[in-house]
Amino acid sequence: MISVEEALKTILVNFRPLGLEKINILEARGRVIGEDVFAPRNIPSANNSARDGYALRCADIKDASREKPVKLKIIEDIPAGTLAVKKIKKGEAARIMTGAVLPEGADSVVHQEDTMKEGKTVIVYTSAEKSENIRFAGEDVRTGDLVVKKGSALRPADIGMLAALGRAFVSVYQKPRVAIMSTGDELVDIEIEPPPGKIVNSNSFSLAAQVMECGAIPIMLGIVKDKKTDLREAFKTALHADLMISSGGVSVGDFDFVKNVMGEIGNAMHFWRVAMRPGKPLAFGAIEGVPLFGLPGNPVSSMVSFEQFVRPSLLKMQGHKKIFRQTIQAVCNDEFQKNPGFRHFIRAVVKKEKDRYVAITTGDQGSGILKSMVAANGLIVIGEEETRIKKGSEVTVQLLDDSLFRSESLQL
Ligand code: AMP
Ligand code: MG
Repeated sequence: MISVEEALKTILVNFRPLGLEKINILEARGRVIGEDVFAPRNIPSANNSARDGYALRCADIKDASREKPVKLKIIEDIPAGTLAVKKIKKGEAARIMTGAVLPEGADSVVHQEDTMKEGKTVIVYTSAEKSENIRFAGEDVRTGDLVVKKGSALRPADIGMLAALGRAFVSVYQKPRVAIMSTGDELVDIEIEPPPGKIVNSNSFSLAAQVMECGAIPIMLGIVKDKKTDLREAFKTALHADLMISSGGVSVGDFDFVKNVMGEIGNAMHFWRVAMRPGKPLAFGAIEGVPLFGLPGNPVSSMVSFEQFVRPSLLKMQGHKKIFRQTIQAVCNDEFQKNPGFRHFIRAVVKKEKDRYVAITTGDQGSGILKSMVAANGLIVIGEEETRIKKGSEVTVQLLDDSLFRSESLQL
């Protein structure tokens, strides 16, 4: 048996980012970009107006005010998207819309609200500084700037930047294809009302959802009987995937054959059993170079093991650098006693109370009690060496989602 830390190390050295693929930027949100993107041009491309108003020479309205307005001749209209044909000379102005390129000769733009149009002239009620209301060429991005860095997970703002620079396609790390198999003679498919002694295969679905949450692609290989030949067949079918996950059959039961079959096929098992609860019976190895996680069958164990080991691996395969869940410190509402040697993960709901976080355990912690996982947004992590957690003491909580940082309504 190895520690969670050792298991993670042993697992993660086997994973590196998959190859790159070119995709449309509309599909690229959340993906990790595999190239540095440099700006091929300035944004904005030319000096332009930040307002609807009048482009003019600030010297012409130097002393203008409500009491001493200045009259200028309107020589042209410049809507956005068109270019001026005339140059602004002394005593002249051009009507200009936001985003339109500044005409030659103008060095300032006056807000429409500070003017009044009178036929072919405009009365200006204010003075202006040089460069007022002008957006300069390259003030956002200069040609050659590094705008999106290789290795960043793309967010909407990055997608907008890529679009602004005319990049419709980018290279991102591929999504891993993950084959999911659930082993167990007791399992029936979701559409079947389970007869006595049977249960619905729910693990395949929770695992598929976890795989998708990591940005990877689940491939549902269904239920596999607790027979060595069936297991071998299933693993063979899964060899085209980037990663295989099985659930069940890794414990010490008479029909727990996953680790035996892994061992038989090319001596493929790296380790079996991790010092954690839930999730002790975990087997990790590779078959013909394809990594395989033999997760435990109990619904909570399978999900918790996925969280600790499969999720970081899948994120690493997609080029992510931040591959671990966020942890926070919270005050625990419960007390625990345990033997040393094992790391415990206790399902809890974490809430913010005034200026601190509070972790409330979600009831029965049995590894088959899926309800306690449904209610949880975090896992209290109790270290190997700890034996006693007192009520009210501070604990580390691994967050399973970002619900803690979202609010239901505006706090007015
Ligand atoms: P095992 O690790 O194969 O001994 O499975 C332990 C327990 O987990 C079984 O007795 C089932 O109750 C449950 N279990 C195993 N596989 C699944 C599954 N695919 N979906 C739901 N529960 C399962
Ligand atoms: Mg089983």
